Amino acid sequence: MLPVRFTILGSGTSAGVPVIGCDCEVCTSNDPRDQRTRSGACIEFVDSRGQQRVVLIDASPDLRFQALRHRLQRCDGILFTHHHVDHSFGLDEVRRFNAVMDAPIDIYAEEHTLDNLKRVYAHIFDSHKNVNASFVATLIPHLIGPSRAIDLHGLRFTPLRLMHGRLPIVGFRIDREDAAAAPADDPLPLAYCTDVSSIPPETWPALDGLKTLFLDALRYRHHPTHFTVGQAIETAQRIAAQQTYLVHMTHDILHGDLDSRLPDSIRLSYDGLQVGSLD
Ligand SMILES: [Zn+2]
Ligand SMILES: [Zn+2]
Ligand SMILES: [Zn+2]
Repeated sequence: MLPVRFTILGSGTSAGVPVIGCDCEVCTSNDPRDQRTRSGACIEFVDSRGQQRVVLIDASPDLRFQALRHRLQRCDGILFTHHHVDHSFGLDEVRRFNAVMDAPIDIYAEEHTLDNLKRVYAHIFDSHKNVNASFVATLIPHLIGPSRAIDLHGLRFTPLRLMHGRLPIVGFRIDREDAAAAPADDPLPLAYCTDVSSIPPETWPALDGLKTLFLDALRYRHHPTHFTVGQAIETAQRIAAQQTYLVHMTHDILHGDLDSRLPDSIRLSYDGLQVGSLD
């Protein structure tokens, strides 16, 4: 049985919580669950040869802090949901994993996401044009598309088409290639669906039979590119994963208040939340 542990590295929206210059109840809360770094996750697992593996979903501007906080020692791949700043402006930090592992890092993104990464990170992707030879990340880009599964070291990652306002992005479903190798308390199959305001019809079948779902719930008030708390609850109940955790929250949401009012199968995530175990 291959152990798997999924960690929420950051549970916050693009500005993070606390928000700069705000002294609201949430931004000044003493509850550590109200401190939300920018959005991202990682899955750690041990492959069939006993090698520990770490795959990141997105690379937030807080990635350095998150990697130190969780003592991440390696990176075997990065899956990008989309290119927005809060999901991609930590990409520079992974050069340390290149150095530690003495190996390039595979990154997986849709074409429009990759185009934006190449525009922002010309010093990485066109490093031969750098005036001075410098310490930049070494990345191997791979194009992905909805429903085209990516097999990495014994896990299968399937991109799921989601709509982020009018921008098509992806979430990821994670399954074991060999479902028979699952422990009874396995968190897989798991889906991570951040930055979503609607789920197109073709994606619904891929959300069947989930043990764990992570779902965007920005705030209470309507937003054009994210689910509200109400929409997230409604969507989570329709998907009916065994356990759903809400992600990508603003400072409108006081953890201790909302978490206690949610239905049993739905909880708020928080920075450092883990499902599964490496033991
Ligand atoms: Zn605030
Ligand atoms: Zn976004
Ligand atoms: Zn975002």
